[in-house]
Amino acid sequence: MNVMSSIWNYKCPRCRKGDLFIKPFEIKNPLNMPDRCSNCDLNYSPEPGYYFGAMFISYGWTVWTILAIVGFCMLVLDWTVEASFGLVVFVSALSYFFIMRISRSMYIHMDVRFDKKHKETT
Ligand SMILES: [Zn+2]
Repeated sequence: MNVMSSIWNYKCPRCRKGDLFIKPFEIKNPLNMPDRCSNCDLNYSPEPGYYFGAMFISYGWTVWTILAIVGFCMLVLDWTVEASFGLVVFVSALSYFFIMRISRSMYIHMDVRFDKKHKETT
């Protein structure tokens, strides 16, 4: 499994076999993660507030998605501002959980790859 596939499938960044999120998905607790990888024992939460950095990834995703949708609707389809933002609200509501989870997955993959301390910590 390559890195992109591991991020997309929410797998452990070190062994790429353990799950990042507890299954089955619960809508009341969409970010429910185990403390450690079930396969290689990697610590998924090495410090309090560890996933604060994932917020910046989700922010980037959301802003560029909104700009792309509104730009396309207004410039290409000639929609009004209200209609364009109505579509943005709808798309944002649909992709909310996906963006939160994929941001965490991307963040821990980047951290484990570039921070040797985290990679070696078990
Ligand atoms: Zn693992």
